[in-house]
Amino acid sequence: TAEAGRDFIRDIIQADLDSKKHTQIVTRFPPEPNGYLHIGHAKSIALNFGIAQEFAGRCHLRFDDTNPTKEEQEYIDSIQADVRWLGFDWGGHLYYASDYFEQLYQWAELLIQNGLAYVDDQSQEEIRVNRGTLTEPGKNSPFRDRSVEENLDLFRRMKAGEFQNGARVLRAKIDMAAGNINLRDPVLYRILHAHHPRTGQAWSIYPSYDYAHGQSDAIEGITHSICTLEFEDHRPLYEWLLDKLPVPAKPRQYEFARLNLTYTLLSKRVLTELVRGGHVNGWDDPRMPTIAGLRRRGVPPAAVREFVKRIGVAKANSVVDVGMLEFCIREELNRTAPRRMAVLRPLKVVIENYPEGQSEQIEAVNHPDDPAAGTRTLHFGREIYIERDDFMENPPKKFFRLSPGNEVRLRYGYFITCREVVKDAAGEIVELRCSYDPATRGGNAPDGRKVKATMHWLSAQDAVPAEIRIYNQLFQKPAPEAANFAADLNPQSLEVLTGALVEPSVAAATSAEPMQFERQGYFVRDRDSSADRLVFNRTIGLRDTFAK
Ligand code: ATP
Ligand code: MG
Ligand code: MG
Repeated sequence: TAEAGRDFIRDIIQADLDSKKHTQIVTRFPPEPNGYLHIGHAKSIALNFGIAQEFAGRCHLRFDDTNPTKEEQEYIDSIQADVRWLGFDWGGHLYYASDYFEQLYQWAELLIQNGLAYVDDQSQEEIRVNRGTLTEPGKNSPFRDRSVEENLDLFRRMKAGEFQNGARVLRAKIDMAAGNINLRDPVLYRILHAHHPRTGQAWSIYPSYDYAHGQSDAIEGITHSICTLEFEDHRPLYEWLLDKLPVPAKPRQYEFARLNLTYTLLSKRVLTELVRGGHVNGWDDPRMPTIAGLRRRGVPPAAVREFVKRIGVAKANSVVDVGMLEFCIREELNRTAPRRMAVLRPLKVVIENYPEGQSEQIEAVNHPDDPAAGTRTLHFGREIYIERDDFMENPPKKFFRLSPGNEVRLRYGYFITCREVVKDAAGEIVELRCSYDPATRGGNAPDGRKVKATMHWLSAQDAVPAEIRIYNQLFQKPAPEAANFAADLNPQSLEVLTGALVEPSVAAATSAEPMQFERQGYFVRDRDSSADRLVFNRTIGLRDTFAK
C-alpha cells in the first residue's frame, strides 16, 4: 500500500545518506540468464533502478551466470532488451559474475589457507543427509579436517579439471550444528565440466550462488543488495563471507516480498516447462507473464511501471489480484490508445434505400478526450457489416440493439431499422435488409426521436480482413499449483477469430501502437502479420472487473 518513496527500503537508504554512511547509492539487478524476465522481475527492476534514479545513484545490471548448464546467450540478450523496454538503463554498468571468476577463486584459496574452507569428497546425497534438519544438528564430514596443503592441492586439481562432475566440492568450514542450516558448511564450489556462454571451457569448477553473490556485490561497490525474502536466511552467510575475505566494500543485504499474482505462476521453472512442453507458443506468447509476452500482447511499459508502483514494496509475502494489473493496463490504454472500428464477428447489412453505387465520407474522432489526436475518415455505403452479437431475431425485453423492426444508431453514421432477415438453407442468418433515415446523418434525428443503442460498423467497400486472437487467463484457478501446473491450465486461454474486419487505418498501425476497437477492448498488431495477412492480439477487454 506504499507510494513510491514511502517504503522501508527507501527509508533505510534515506537514513544511510542522512548519516553519511554512504554518499552515493549503488544497487544492482542480478538476473540469472536461465529464462526470460517476468512481471515479478519488473518489481525488482523498478525498485533497484528506481532507487538509483531517485537518489542520484546508479544501478548495475549483473548477470548471475554461475550455472552454465542452464544459461544461454538468448536469455542474456532478451533480459537486456526487456529492461530497456521497461524504461530503465544501466548506464554502461553491465557486469557478469563470470567477470569475477578469477578473483573469487583466489579468495577461495585464501579461505582454505586460513582454515575456513575444505574439500569434501562426500557425495551430494551424503552431504544432504549429513546436513541435518531444523531439529537435528548436522554431522561433520570425515574430510573436514584435511590439512591446508591437502585442501589446496585438491582444490587446484578440481580447477585443473582432474575430477569428474560431483566427485568433490569445496565447502566453507563454519558450524555443522548451526541453527541456521545455511551456515552448516555451505558449498562454495562444485565441479562442472560444461561450456559457459562467456568463459567457454576455461573453468571446470563454478561458484555457488551464495559464494558468488555477496563477493560480486562487494567488488562492484554495491551499497544496498536488495533481494527477495527467501534469501533472508542466507544473510548470515552473506555477512560471514564478507567478514572473512579482504573485500573492497561491505554491502548490506535487504529483503522484500516477491510479487505473486492470482491466476499466474511466476517461477522460471514453470515458465520454462510451459515453453518446452508446447503449452504456449514461446516465451513471448501473449498469455505468458513474461515481459516479452506482455509487450507482444500490447501492454504499454508505463502500465507495468504504474502497477509495480501501486503494489509497493513490503516485507510480508502476499498475492496481488491480477485485476490490479489489468486495471493499470486499461487506465494507460484508455488515456493513450486511438479509437478505431473493427467488427470481430461480421454480419452483412444491406441498406435498401441507400442509392446503389453511391458512398460518402464520414469524420470520426480519434480520441474522445484528446482533440489533438485529430480525426480520420470512414466510408459509408449501401453495404456494411455489424457485429453478429448486435442483432437478435427474437430479442428478450432488455435487448436494445438491432432486431426486426427496431431502430438503432450507427456510430458517426445514421439511424437504421431492420426490415428483413435473410437466412441460408440451414437456417443461419446471412444478411439483414435495413432502411436508413437520411435525416439522421451524424447520429441525431431532427424530430428528436431517440434510439437506445449505438453500434460500431464497417463499410463493405473498404473493410480489411484480419485474424483476431483473444486471450483469457492461462490458468483457470486463482492459485494454480506449481507442482502440477498442467492440470490447472485453462483450455480456453486462446480463442482465434479468423473472419474479423478492421477499418483501413488499423491495417497501417505497427505493433508498437495499441488501439481501442470501439466497444471491444484494446488491440495491437501481432508480429505474425504479413503483407497479405493481418493478425491482432486483444490486449484486454474494456470492462473493468477490479474493485478499486
Ligand atoms: P525464479 O525463482 O522464478 O527462478 P529467480 O528469483 O531465480 O526466479 P533471478 O533471475 O535470480 O530469478 O532473479 C533476479 C532478481 O529478480 C532477483 O533479485 C530476484 O529476487 C528478483 N525476483 C525474481 N522473482 C521475483 C518476484 N516474483 N518478485 C520480485 N522480485 C523477483
Ligand atoms: Mg535466482
Ligand atoms: Mg529463484
